[in-house]
Amino acid sequence: MINQIVTNTARRQFALALNFEDGMAPDLPACTDEKQRLLYIHIPFCEELCPYCSFHRIRFEEGLTRKYFDALRREMALYREKGYRFSGVYVGGGTPTVLMDELSETLHLARKMFPVTSISVETNPNHLTDANIIMLQQAGVNRLSVGVQTFNDDLLKKLARYDKYGSGELIAERLRQTMGSFDTVNADMIFNFPEQTEQMLEADLAILLKLNMEQITFYPLMVSTLTQRLMKETLGDVNFRREKSFFKLILRRLESQHNSSSAWCFSRKKAAKSLIDEYVVDFDEYAGLGSGAIGFLNGVCYANTFDIEQYIANLTQGKLPLQASRKFDLPDQIRYDFLMKLFSTRLNVNDLEKKYDGRFFKTLWKEMVAFTLAGSFRYFSPNLHLTPHGRYLWVIMMREFFIAVNNFRDYCRKQAGLI
Ligand code: SF4
Repeated sequence: MINQIVTNTARRQFALALNFEDGMAPDLPACTDEKQRLLYIHIPFCEELCPYCSFHRIRFEEGLTRKYFDALRREMALYREKGYRFSGVYVGGGTPTVLMDELSETLHLARKMFPVTSISVETNPNHLTDANIIMLQQAGVNRLSVGVQTFNDDLLKKLARYDKYGSGELIAERLRQTMGSFDTVNADMIFNFPEQTEQMLEADLAILLKLNMEQITFYPLMVSTLTQRLMKETLGDVNFRREKSFFKLILRRLESQHNSSSAWCFSRKKAAKSLIDEYVVDFDEYAGLGSGAIGFLNGVCYANTFDIEQYIANLTQGKLPLQASRKFDLPDQIRYDFLMKLFSTRLNVNDLEKKYDGRFFKTLWKEMVAFTLAGSFRYFSPNLHLTPHGRYLWVIMMREFFIAVNNFRDYCRKQAGLI
């Protein structure tokens, strides 16, 4: 019952939080401080469109993609002109490696413009070629995150990934060859697909353990309301009731060899602290560049236009392609920090009291009491730690957070006439 209460409450709260003010293009203020920020870059092109995917993505077309990368580099220059500096870069998609020469030029430029110390890039298994790996290394990439989802061939066929991205065996072999080429190679996995059985999940886990993967991110399936309806026709219904037992199985299998970098990310033991997919955990602020990218700067959440032609046109005219924004008031910011910091499985209470001038506990005391009574945390001064039960509650909350983001994306894509 507690899981259902958390699901419903989180769903309501996040839907409200992602209610953006549309209409007038928001203005981005100049930056006057030296805070550590992350540069998120979105590449919305894919060779195949997977039926469960709620991200902002369209089918790859070379001419449009080249114009898009050119616009992206102009956008980076506009942020630099406004005084923004970034220490980390995360390139997500879509499929960022869809045109390697363009990606490489963009990353080289980012390193020239900003004091970048870490770069993460997402990719698909078919792009794990020797030539691409060398180009990514030369562009300064430290962490490569590979979209695997599952090694099960029947599921891969149903997910429309088998023909383009390869069989489970081929994907495992490519991962094996890529490991050691970067500080971290991460396998992005999904659990709780319709038709996925416990045996299939066990088999995926056995392959990952045999590969001795440096990092594994195991997302619960999180699709927007619209995608859920579309997915029903191809893959079937999502059954959230199985999610907890699947998650427990993942914890049991991975715990012996891996530490938790977040509620659903596992990094191999003894590895130095590694970057993870959820840069929202490591960085309080990030700029979102590219069509449909979302940024969070100075307490304001910004979204770029989802209309790719419009995005290119704006930047050709030297204008930022911002479409909507939402200012988070102080209690919103405190709640957001609480959610994200505990997602990393621990939260330093003193740091947050200091950051919010003693208002952290005063604002969140009701939530703290409720989660304590539900057995979600343990307090070892000065940190709150998620218990195994709390960890699953955080999986639910983050799942609902990303579903709300996906619903917001669908809304914007509809406005842009893309769906
Ligand atoms: S899952 Fe990845 S490859 Fe498939 S459509 Fe979504 S972004 Fe593209």
